[in-house]
Amino acid sequence: MPNINEINPTPYWVLLYYCFTPIDSPEEFREQHHLWCLKHGLNGRIIIAPEGLNGTVSGAPADCQAYMDYVKADTRFANIDFKVEKSDKPAFAKLHVRTKSEIVHADLPQIKPWERTGIHLEPAQFKAMKDNPDVVVVDFRSNYEHKVGKFKNAITLDIENFRDFPTKIAQLEKYKDKKIITYCTGGIKCEKASAYLLDQGFENVYQLHGGIIKYGIEEGGQDFEGKCYVFDNRLTVDVNKINPVVASVCYICGTHCDRMINCANALCNNHVPVCEKCGWDMKGTCSEACKHTPNIRVYDGSGYYQKKSNGYNPYIGLTRRKKTN
Ligand SMILES: [Zn+2]
Ligand SMILES: [Zn+2]
Repeated sequence: MPNINEINPTPYWVLLYYCFTPIDSPEEFREQHHLWCLKHGLNGRIIIAPEGLNGTVSGAPADCQAYMDYVKADTRFANIDFKVEKSDKPAFAKLHVRTKSEIVHADLPQIKPWERTGIHLEPAQFKAMKDNPDVVVVDFRSNYEHKVGKFKNAITLDIENFRDFPTKIAQLEKYKDKKIITYCTGGIKCEKASAYLLDQGFENVYQLHGGIIKYGIEEGGQDFEGKCYVFDNRLTVDVNKINPVVASVCYICGTHCDRMINCANALCNNHVPVCEKCGWDMKGTCSEACKHTPNIRVYDGSGYYQKKSNGYNPYIGLTRRKKTN
């Protein structure tokens, strides 16, 4: 954990965290939490559900430190693990604090990771185990994520959305006598995925605690090939400082490239790697059809388009008229 008392030239921190723990009054908790974050100038996305808390927030280091202290002071979250990344830019332009039925959407509310889940491996343990012959490493992220980067030799699942993973578990049946290690971006999906595997009769189930991000911070990301897709303005981050390789190719021209963009055609919004040159040539779109669609979004070279906020602020209420059903 970085010490904010040290001279720190990085203007922003990005915190990633989750905690599975029963929350009795999610709506009430949401309100308090939202107010606290507004007061401290934090931006990001926070989800509160009866099963716990999940978020990515960014802000000034002192505010991020205050947030971590605030959350940990609540005994329900005493064991929460914050991953702290440094960033030159704020990772979010807005703050969203929402209640949902699950903190990670899997349509599996009956799976309770706080009761039983796969054995947590710290990054150093994962690094020591992952290449053993009796170990199978499985990526539980979606296609658009593992296409830009994954662990060397990891098995991937052909899924568009995490909630589809149970339909792909049959392909792991042949590894039932091996040790299965699951991993994802920050560890949260694995809490549910590994719990589900145990539920389905898999016995030796492990999970990379803190996911790719924590492994990058603590172990330099060795053997992670390509970039790690993240759900904020950065789109992807580098995690491997030891033996990096470019794992993906430009969707347009096929040259090695791991620069992700969203297609400028909002109706397509395809997440694909596109090289710098093709990005400009294609006006930020993924195909000739998208390029010639009327009213495409203006490509500024980043390939990221800020979603419009509904403007909710608990101090002043909803600024936009509520939708009527
Ligand atoms: Zn290209
Ligand atoms: Zn497109």
